[in-house]
Amino acid sequence: MHKLLVVDDQLENRTIISEALGDIPIEIHQAEDGYQALDLVEKHHYFAILLDIFMPGMNGFDCAEKLSKDKRFSQIPIIFVTASDKSDDYILKSYGLGAVDFISKPIDPYILESKIRVFLNLQTKVSDEKSVICDLREEKNKQELMLNYIADGVIGFDKNNIITYANLAACTLLTAPADEILGNNIKDYVSPQSEAEEWAQSDFVQTYRDGQCNHCDDTYFWRQKTHKFPVQYTQSSIYSDNSIVGGMLVFQDISERKEMEKRLLKIAKYDELTGLANRSLYWEFLQKSIELAKRAEENLYILFLDLDRFKDVNDSLGHDAGDLLLIHVSERLRSTLRSADLISRLGGDEFAIIIQKTESDQAVAQICKKILSTFEKSFEIYGHEAYLGCSIGIARFPTDGEDASCITKSADTAMYSAKASGKNNFKFFQMEMHKKVESQLRLATELRVALTKDEIVPFFQTQVDIKEGRYIGAEALARWISGDESISPGVFIPVAEETGLISSVTQEILQAVGRTSREIDRMLPGVHFRVAVNISSKQVQESNFSRNLLNFFDQNSINPSRIEIEITESSLMNNSSKVVKELLTLRSNDIHISIDDFGTGYSSLAYLKSIPLDTIKIDQSFVKDIGKNKSDEKIIHAIIQLAHSLELKVVAEGVESQEQLNFLTDLDCDIIQGFLFSHPSPKDEFLRELALPFNQTMRRHIIGA
Ligand code: C2E
Ligand code: CA
Ligand code: CA
Repeated sequence: MHKLLVVDDQLENRTIISEALGDIPIEIHQAEDGYQALDLVEKHHYFAILLDIFMPGMNGFDCAEKLSKDKRFSQIPIIFVTASDKSDDYILKSYGLGAVDFISKPIDPYILESKIRVFLNLQTKVSDEKSVICDLREEKNKQELMLNYIADGVIGFDKNNIITYANLAACTLLTAPADEILGNNIKDYVSPQSEAEEWAQSDFVQTYRDGQCNHCDDTYFWRQKTHKFPVQYTQSSIYSDNSIVGGMLVFQDISERKEMEKRLLKIAKYDELTGLANRSLYWEFLQKSIELAKRAEENLYILFLDLDRFKDVNDSLGHDAGDLLLIHVSERLRSTLRSADLISRLGGDEFAIIIQKTESDQAVAQICKKILSTFEKSFEIYGHEAYLGCSIGIARFPTDGEDASCITKSADTAMYSAKASGKNNFKFFQMEMHKKVESQLRLATELRVALTKDEIVPFFQTQVDIKEGRYIGAEALARWISGDESISPGVFIPVAEETGLISSVTQEILQAVGRTSREIDRMLPGVHFRVAVNISSKQVQESNFSRNLLNFFDQNSINPSRIEIEITESSLMNNSSKVVKELLTLRSNDIHISIDDFGTGYSSLAYLKSIPLDTIKIDQSFVKDIGKNKSDEKIIHAIIQLAHSLELKVVAEGVESQEQLNFLTDLDCDIIQGFLFSHPSPKDEFLRELALPFNQTMRRHIIGA
């Protein structure tokens, strides 16, 4: 709080004065004479002194004189309190002593109060100003300090672009001491390579010429005129008296930011595992390519590629192996395609390839063949040899879709269709594929539900040993019973294979077959009756196929000696040595193995020797042609001979007529399966059929009597 000193020898006067100033927020000190006043002035800082002139001891004039001579106190305003009979002499004398004002006795409290208020205001202003000056000085020091401590480079230069100031950071960033930098032209650091003309026209120079400010996010400055480094900067013009006197440049090294941006870009646009483009870059690139193709009226092809059997590798050898496989696959793709084609991994084992500037479907088909051929060689994964296939779907822009998402969907659909039609091939998109794929997806969903509701059941079709004249076994054929409808396996098995539901289907069938076998054992004791179950090649190729199957038999009390599995030739196509091992395990556990649809596969008959087998099933297409096609008849003959030479039994399936039966009997065929004897039928009906004595009609068929 501001302090006021009242000096008067009379207490009464001092009291009057104090009371008169009661409303002003100040501290009032009192002194009885000049000595006391000087004492107090030493100890306190007063904004003004009310000084009585006539006092015993030291009078007011003497006191004022002493104060005016002391530098410390000479600035304190003194207001003399005079008697009403003041003369001009007094006034003159007191002015000489630095007095600022007078007030006469008797004191008018209002005048006194207003005068003191004026002095108080004055005092406040002065001290404010003082602190402003202090602050400014401090600020300047602080700024200089700060300029040296902040990480931003700060450079000041005059209107000829000659550098007059550079802070520490600027020196560090430009790797030169201040005395080397000062005096140089700013151009040496901003754009040393540019020609004078070009420099004069540059935005950088223009900004200063126009007295503007500007911020630039991303450019380069130069060290020693030779090494550039990335910076962001803010430039501002410096004015004095309304004219431009120079400029200021604040800049930062953004190398780290750029590095980070690069890394982020990589993460954002590329697949970490394979280094191929990721989904987001695929879309970006596709959109751009479509724009370009539109403008240039060119074709554009999108290839969707999905690996066949990738899941098996992943499941059996582990995730690391799966990752390694994906890396190998992407390397093969890279080496097959041109660098202008964008190869991206969309996720999992799905890849997309964008092919630009290719004229024809034939050229793209050629590319697909090339890709497929790279899959013929095995992939080496941790010492294992893995064979993979891939299915490719192709969509063309603009025929198969006019925007990125349409054409992508078309390529996906074509891929799905390629997969459904036997894998390891490619398919161009066709409009009707959409419908087919949609209905297949619907079917898959419904199948999933059906499996939980026991709607998948086996029908049984008997197999007749025509030499012994008795039922020797049956084939379990899956049916989907949905209400009154029975959906045929030709419809849902391919979908089950495609969606991975096939193993659930097999398990359903096997459980039911196991139960039925036990019933047959009870019903026909001493008869060794086998039920054949179809196993998809997809499952046969699964690693641990035999172990899983045996475990399942164990868990469900299925007697392996009552089971035959039917596999197709295609199961043996890939990695046959591994499959052979699996089959050996099954066979050593008393499970019979039969080759289904024999003669329709691509393989030579020679390989049969090396495979552990019990039965060969002649495909129905040959049986159908008995009596119509001589060459098919010859094939049947050859198959039966070959099988017998290998000590294998032969089953002819699809036998519908007496003529067919006679022909097969003559050729010494062992077992007959077909509508001639029975249609596939539900369990109860089938068991009833078995319970009947092998009836006379049958015997007549066989013996031809
Ligand atoms: P497949 O293994 O070749 O089965 C023989 C097919 O021929 C069966 O068709 C059967 O009903 C039919 N068939 C039997 N006798 C005759 C005949 O005298 N004349 C004619 N024209 N056909 C006859 P289905 O039941 O429709 O099965 C079709 C295919 O579905 C089977 O061919 C098999 O590959 C597959 N399949 C059936 N059940 C299963 C299963 O549980 N698992 C697997 N993975 N596939 C199965
Ligand atoms: Ca079969
Ligand atoms: Ca068959």
